[in-house]
Amino acid sequence: MKLHLNDTFNKQLPADTDTSNTRRQVFGACFSYVTPRVPSNPKLLHVANEVSDLIGLSKEDVTSTEFLALVSGSKVYPETQPYAMAYAGHQFGNWAGQLGDGRAINLFEVLHNNQRWALQLKGAGETPYSRNADGLAVLRSSIREHLCSEAMFHLGVPTTRSLSLVTTGDKVLRDILYNGNPAYEEGAVVCRVAPSFIRFGNFELLAARKDITNLQALADYTIQYFYPEITSTGKEKYLAFYQEVVNRTVDMIVEWQRVGFVHGVMNTDNMSILGLTIDYGPYGWLEDYNPDWTPNTTDAEGKRYRFRNQPDIALWNLIQLGNALYPLIENVPAMEAILNSYSHRFDAKFPVMMQEKLGLTTEYESDFQDELTTLLTASETDMTIFYRNLANVLKSDTPEIALSKIEYAFYQPDALVATLKTSWINWMERYLQKLNDESLSDADRKAKMNVVNPKYVLRNYMAQLAIEAAEKEDNSLINELHELLKHPYDEQPENEKWFAKRPDWARNKVGCSMLSCSS
Ligand code: AMP
Ligand code: MG
Repeated sequence: MKLHLNDTFNKQLPADTDTSNTRRQVFGACFSYVTPRVPSNPKLLHVANEVSDLIGLSKEDVTSTEFLALVSGSKVYPETQPYAMAYAGHQFGNWAGQLGDGRAINLFEVLHNNQRWALQLKGAGETPYSRNADGLAVLRSSIREHLCSEAMFHLGVPTTRSLSLVTTGDKVLRDILYNGNPAYEEGAVVCRVAPSFIRFGNFELLAARKDITNLQALADYTIQYFYPEITSTGKEKYLAFYQEVVNRTVDMIVEWQRVGFVHGVMNTDNMSILGLTIDYGPYGWLEDYNPDWTPNTTDAEGKRYRFRNQPDIALWNLIQLGNALYPLIENVPAMEAILNSYSHRFDAKFPVMMQEKLGLTTEYESDFQDELTTLLTASETDMTIFYRNLANVLKSDTPEIALSKIEYAFYQPDALVATLKTSWINWMERYLQKLNDESLSDADRKAKMNVVNPKYVLRNYMAQLAIEAAEKEDNSLINELHELLKHPYDEQPENEKWFAKRPDWARNKVGCSMLSCSS
């Protein structure tokens, strides 16, 4: 197994001079060296071959003992120096101070096909940033992160990737619902892969410490490797950088809203500076369409990170990033203009995305969209099934026939009260009118809709089934779901069973409709 190492982050940016693995505040540094913990009995559960390809590993490589040693943390790859990054963050709207990689350890960077990839183990033991926690991860949350990272990539949503899933053979104590019932669970490690894992919080930490030298060094580093198209100099350079981060963040959020993804913990330490979805914790998929839903029980009261808030929260987070970058820019009006561009970009992209979901090519009245949202919410409708089946409507359908084509999306089709049914018929009538005003054929429209409306998403109950099987040492479902979700827009007749509403048993189950941050 030969990797083309090409470390930059830990070569170019300042290291913590203290190399002891003790929990502390770290000053004047972007990271601390740390060695992953050696697991007692590592076992490889799954490898995403699309990701091993990316970093230049062959099918044989990933079955080697050397590979298992690498992705479980049991052996440090020769000539590499693993490290944990220093970052801070705003959590649930409040400044939380230094956080850092409490259980993530960056191994090294590789260059393959001219692309840079950093490898990072999540759950490989404590670091100087572990605060009062253990640095470990459990199997259930690791399965969720591994499967969802890949599912999101194949959906076309910017995201960090996941190379592998390993169990460590060590037990980890967790109180899933934070209700005084801790239990031992199986430990696991995921190897994440991304161009970089730098977050908004990396900048926030240095700014809060008034460490402007390193703030600038980090910004210069990020621009050099990840925003090479920025060629301006001086303050203009950091302005252009801020603008690009805003753009990429908007684009990511529009994609989340398109597929019905709720991140669950949009703290600034969970916002990638590259506009990637990062840190899959208590995320979820909108099943019964409820814009006020969040899967995160820790956020049950304020619902700060509910589905419909995600665009506003991303903007709020970008304001925090702006505050952190301010010392490099010192131009309030220019930064305000960039923040205003967030809404402009969102308002330009979001309606087009929604239009595409409906298979329409021309702009429509906002009340048509609002009415749909109201109906989807009021009727307990499965978002994925609704949009997918809407593509089956024909221009020649009556509103009643059109409605019957999406009926399968209703959780309780028989419970559609008469008034609601009338409203649906009225909406369908308007929809059919629009279809008939357009020149697209039914077949062409369907083809266009089916590349933006996925047939298969990683519903929480699906991940939960994979988890329950894996806890009984049956990993077949991890593999099955990984394969299924590689082609989320394809009809897969053999997999029709996964094109189904959340089953009743999952409605109020922990791990399905409710998830905590405990992982
Ligand atoms: P999260 O909400 O999972 O993004 O985590 C917030 C912060 O807590 C980050 O600094 C994490 O690295 C840290 N953290 C979360 N879980 C653990 C854990 N089990 N051990 C150490 N640090 C953790
Ligand atoms: Mg995090």
